[in-house]
Parts: sequence; C-alpha cells; structure tokens
Amino acid sequence: MARYTNAVCRLCRREGQKLFLKGDRCYSSKCAIDVRPYAPGQHGQNRGRKLSEYGMQHREKQKARRFYGVSEKQLRRYFTLATKIPGATGENLLKLLEMRLDNVAYRMGLAMSRAEARQLVNHAHFTVNGRKVNIPSYLVKPGDVVALREKSRQSDKFKSLVEANQSKPVPRWIEKSSDGYEAKIVQFPTREDIDLPVEETLIVELYSK
Ligand code: SF4
Repeated sequence: MARYTNAVCRLCRREGQKLFLKGDRCYSSKCAIDVRPYAPGQHGQNRGRKLSEYGMQHREKQKARRFYGVSEKQLRRYFTLATKIPGATGENLLKLLEMRLDNVAYRMGLAMSRAEARQLVNHAHFTVNGRKVNIPSYLVKPGDVVALREKSRQSDKFKSLVEANQSKPVPRWIEKSSDGYEAKIVQFPTREDIDLPVEETLIVELYSK
C-alpha cells in the first residue's frame, strides 16, 4: 500500500473529525483539530460549501480508510467480501476492518495507534493461536487467541505500553488476559462496538454505483 507520509493530523482536519491517529496526543489539548478546527491548506478556512451526494459518500469512505489506514484497493476488497456475508453490507464492512490483526493489537492496548500496531505486527511481535503472524491485514475470527510473543514481552516498550493502557476500555468482543499480553476473540463485533464516526450506508451507496 502506498504509505501516507504527510502529517496525519491533516487527515482529521480534512474530515472535520477526530480520527485518533496519534495516540495520546489525540486526547490532549495539543490535538490539531481543537487548535485549528478547519480544513488544512490555503483555502481551508473558506471550505463551507455544501457537499454533493457523491461528495458526502466520498468523504465517509475516506474517513473509514483513514481511520483503519487501508488503501482504496483494500477497502474495495473488504466491500466485495462484505457483500457476500449475510446481513447489512455496511456493518459487515466495518466488522471486517475491525477484525484486522493490527486493529486487534491496537484494541488490546499493545500499540498507541493503528499505525504503530501495523508496524509492530509487521515486525512479527504477535502470534495467532500460537503461530507467528506478521500480516497486519490478517483477519481474526471468534475463538482465535492473539498474543504478544514471549520474547517481545521482555521488552521495556511493551511493558510500558501495557502499563499505559491498563485502564483503556477493551471492546466486549475481545477478552483480554489479566497480564494484558493475550486476548481471545469471543464474538464478532457489532455496530455498537465500533466507535468509527462514519455513516457506512453512504460507503455502500458509493461502491454500489
Ligand atoms: Fe487527529 Fe489525533 Fe491529530 Fe487530533 S491529535 S488531529 S485526533 S491525529
């Protein structure tokens, strides 16, 4: 995937919403969207015009892409997969994105952001059902056990991550072990479990054209 290397806060400012891409900073008074609550760029403060129907659909799609850090091609692939699963396509799409291994690592509190989680998965710090997995897009399923590798548990980085995120709420579809290094996927997430501020039906409309 072509990696976005610009300042990530611009993405939140472009969407006009916090997408929580920067860990702790997102919860501090330094959050760029609180400091500069308008779109980035020279004409950012003048962008008040009403969006067309396509514009709204496009923005919701971009929001989902940016939140989970996936490419256009990947999102399309998830959409195709979502249409083949029984139930509402929009909700299925979000469920698939949530079940990515990098997202699970982030939800477990073993990374400060999804971008960091992706890097840590890439560096082979995680196992699924005891087997090393270094593919951030790997889709977990109910019954799977995601764990930090024994060797990685000794590192100060992970020790401090566990400590820092101890009180962070974990979604109910994930059952975290008491030491914080392991988690069992107990069920598929429902829409209520997913905190992405997006209207997924607009993404479905866009991709169904
Ligand atoms: Fe978005 Fe976080 Fe930057 Fe705030 S600090 S603008 S929530 S990435």
